[in-house]
Amino acid sequence: MRKYVIVGPLGSGKGTQSALLARDLDIVHISVGDVFRWHVKNHTKLGAQVRRIMAAGELVGDDLVEGVVRDRLDQHDWNYGFVIDGFPRNSRQAEFFLEGYDIDGVIHLDLPDGEVRRRVLARRYCSRCGMDYNLIADRPTEEGRCDVCGGELVAREDDTEEALVERLRLYHEKTDPVLELFGRKEYVVTVDATPGVDEVQRTIRERLALPPPL
Ligand code: AMP
Repeated sequence: MRKYVIVGPLGSGKGTQSALLARDLDIVHISVGDVFRWHVKNHTKLGAQVRRIMAAGELVGDDLVEGVVRDRLDQHDWNYGFVIDGFPRNSRQAEFFLEGYDIDGVIHLDLPDGEVRRRVLARRYCSRCGMDYNLIADRPTEEGRCDVCGGELVAREDDTEEALVERLRLYHEKTDPVLELFGRKEYVVTVDATPGVDEVQRTIRERLALPPPL
């Protein structure tokens, strides 16, 4: 059983790197942001509670987030382990986690603020099938259209200039201390997230003594 936490600023590739780990290691990728986005998209009660907070780049309240994480982990569909992305994001959430779950490793994706900005403002996804694009590194063949299904490409509601500033500020203020806390108690590996997806994944595997990517 392998249990990992992945921490990094927005645009550092937490989702992408987690998905690759999950695929090859047969572990479950848990993205708290994705859970919230699902609720917003499907107009649930929870979605209504978090929509405005997310769009402004603010953090959802700890009780609510911890409830979502607890419910998700209680599903116990993770026989071989999990990689959790987007949680914990502050010291209280980190304490909650450390009390309940043994972690095998914390993957810290390190990316300078300037690069965060550049990447996030170029981020798009297909409104129909969800495929991710990036106008810098991963452009669609036809502008604004998904290569796979022809759906319209849109930006995440919180990938705006204003929300970006707030999310980065909160990351440094609230999430930097999480890394300090984990650094004292757990096994943190800091990986430079500037290179391409494959190289970052290779480095993560090496640093965690995992088999190389397939
Ligand atoms: P993400 O996709 O991880 O960037 O998350 C998108 C948004 O969901 C964040 O900007 C927050 O509004 C909310 N969110 C996700 N995870 C958390 C968390 N652990 N604590 C508080 N808010 C969160």
